[in-house]
Amino acid sequence: MATVSFNKATRIYPGGDKPAVDQLELDVADGEFLVLVGPSGCGKSTSLRMLAGLEDVNAGSIHIGDRDVTHLPPKDRDIAMVFQNYALYPHMTVADNMGFALKIAGVNKAEIRQKVEDAAKILDLTDYLARKPKALSGGQRQRVAMGRAIVREPQVFLMDEPLSNLDAKLRVSTRTQIASLQRRLGITTVYVTHDQVEAMTMGDRVAVLKDGLLQQVDSPRSMYDRP
Ligand code: ADP
Ligand code: ADP
Repeated sequence: MATVSFNKATRIYPGGDKPAVDQLELDVADGEFLVLVGPSGCGKSTSLRMLAGLEDVNAGSIHIGDRDVTHLPPKDRDIAMVFQNYALYPHMTVADNMGFALKIAGVNKAEIRQKVEDAAKILDLTDYLARKPKALSGGQRQRVAMGRAIVREPQVFLMDEPLSNLDAKLRVSTRTQIASLQRRLGITTVYVTHDQVEAMTMGDRVAVLKDGLLQQVDSPRSMYDRP
């Protein structure tokens, strides 16, 4: 079961006068699409990076399923993360970008090929497997970054402002694609955005952060209904 729980997870940056994330208490259900939203600097990325193992947790703990991952390195957490800038390898083809993590993990070539082909089909990238990232549109690059994450079949999927480099029109269509892909895969997802509309249209639940403190967690519907 890929539940996620933050148990009073706290991050204080060296020299910081107050916590960037202060005793975060948050449970994400198996298969849920949870969105972390709030203005710039409220602690969204720090929360996500603590879950990914990219940022130290100074107090409290983080669990994935029944495993305490608080002090595990990123590679042992069974997560995959899509970054804002996609961080694709420019000298590799789309296929090699998507298969790279599996290659590093020692998976055999036939199996990698199959997984890359399957992911490419789902993401509408089959015709682009031999291209280099620079020969792709922004939306296609975004899908390669998603593909690279899903071929690993991680337990938890993390996304940090994955639409911020797309133009407004593409943002709207990609929003729908990501949400439907997530539902199809049923993978527990934590998604960071500063965009309230994005949060409300994509999330099963939305967690609102302000100044490092969790303000509320609710379904978009009940947030709209609230006076
Ligand atoms: P958000 O993702 O919501 O924009 P962040 O998690 O990036 O917010 O930042 C939360 C707070 O922590 C901010 O006040 C930010 O300035 C501070 N912060 C973020 N990263 C660092 C860092 N590496 N060193 C010191 N302070 C940081
Ligand atoms: P290498 O370049 O390591 O000798 P390959 O040419 O088989 O091996 O490709 C590198 C990786 O990218 C492989 O693991 C492979 O499965 C994947 N890959 C390459 N081309 C394709 C393709 N057209 N369709 C699907 N996967 C591919």
